[in-house]
Amino acid sequence: MNVRDSEAVAALLSAAGYEEAASEEDADIAIVNSCTVRERAENKAVGKTGYLLAAKRAGRLKAAGLMGCAVQRLGESVFKALPGLDFAVGPRRYGAIPRLIERALAGESGMLEISGPDEVPQSMDAHGDCGFRAFTTVLLGCDNRCSYCIVPDVRGREYSRPAREVAAEAAALAARGVKEITLLGQSVLRYGRRNPAFAPDDPPSPGGYREPFPRLLEMLQTIPGLERIRFTSGHPSGCTDELVRAFAEMPKVCRHLHLPVQSGSDRVLKEMGRGYTRARYLAAVAKLRAFDPEFAVTTDVIVGYPGETDADFEDTRSLMEEAGFDNAFVFKYSPRPGTRSALLADDVPREEKERRDAVLLADQDARGAARNARLAGTVRRILAEGPSARNAARWSGRDGGNRITVFEPGAAPPAPGTFLDVRITRTAPQTLYGEIA
Ligand code: SF4
Repeated sequence: MNVRDSEAVAALLSAAGYEEAASEEDADIAIVNSCTVRERAENKAVGKTGYLLAAKRAGRLKAAGLMGCAVQRLGESVFKALPGLDFAVGPRRYGAIPRLIERALAGESGMLEISGPDEVPQSMDAHGDCGFRAFTTVLLGCDNRCSYCIVPDVRGREYSRPAREVAAEAAALAARGVKEITLLGQSVLRYGRRNPAFAPDDPPSPGGYREPFPRLLEMLQTIPGLERIRFTSGHPSGCTDELVRAFAEMPKVCRHLHLPVQSGSDRVLKEMGRGYTRARYLAAVAKLRAFDPEFAVTTDVIVGYPGETDADFEDTRSLMEEAGFDNAFVFKYSPRPGTRSALLADDVPREEKERRDAVLLADQDARGAARNARLAGTVRRILAEGPSARNAARWSGRDGGNRITVFEPGAAPPAPGTFLDVRITRTAPQTLYGEIA
């Protein structure tokens, strides 16, 4: 989401006549985009901004700003933490940045733009040159109140962008060569639940879809040139029969869902306020895999939540095994100010959090290896991205399940953004290897 926000701000600045600098050292103006979901991320953003302010004092920069969730959390205190900061902008006020830069260049400093929780942001559809892949935010904010999460405080209440606006943006992107679009929302399957996303005069769904998110997918599915539609993140409550029907009926909708589980212990899930039980979560995964056993499911897990016992942790391990995740991101719990869980003792020692993290990652490696091994010999439709990060002689791309696929490009490498059929010859826990079929 922050990558997308940074892209949008860069596009707004290009439209206002600014040019992107080749490097940080060449820049006259610098803005740091911050995340406050974890303490470490916020500290890094604030530290980096402090470093830029030193460059400004030394005369190498003309203006410096901070944007993003950390600004919304810190409010006016951001200027105490970062004296000399020209401007600070929260997530729903990015449209103000070009004007703030002008004012900063005219000598103003200490300007703060933060929003109320229900504010509707402007300039959501700004895109620069995004190549063949683009992100678009369809649902802002979050109405869930997970005990450990600061997002609802800093990203505000849920707001679904009108489906018509999203479709127009996607069509414009496709006309510029975008082949794959990723729809973003903290809990994206809640699209259209809090505020209506479809107007009464929008055409009815040809497929008879009644739920807003599958209906949005159906609208995007018809856009010429757009070949793949992804979205993140999911929640088990959104894994409805209609969503499964959309996956089955719409070939452009990739068969992958990022479905954060956070814990496999019912006791911990209840404390977290996640709104599902272990059984309900597993039922959602089973439903997705029932119509396609290769359906890719990835997840996020927190280890060391306050009071997490060995038994709770073992429940997480067994859930991950039962769900058969294709990939998992494991996070060590850290309390965030103002959240419910910050009032609880952070009582799992750091070494134990690290041990649990390592155990889950080792489990996932073995599981990923086994799941990927089943794909050996199959032919995957790959969107080629370019030379692989590890070995420029080979190329990488992703299949519909978002699996990284490395292949030999042959004598005439394809253009990035080309679809290719790749036969899988070898597999690793997180990567497939193959040759152009
Ligand atoms: S669903 Fe829960 S964890 Fe995700 S953003 Fe909303 S409050 Fe945070």
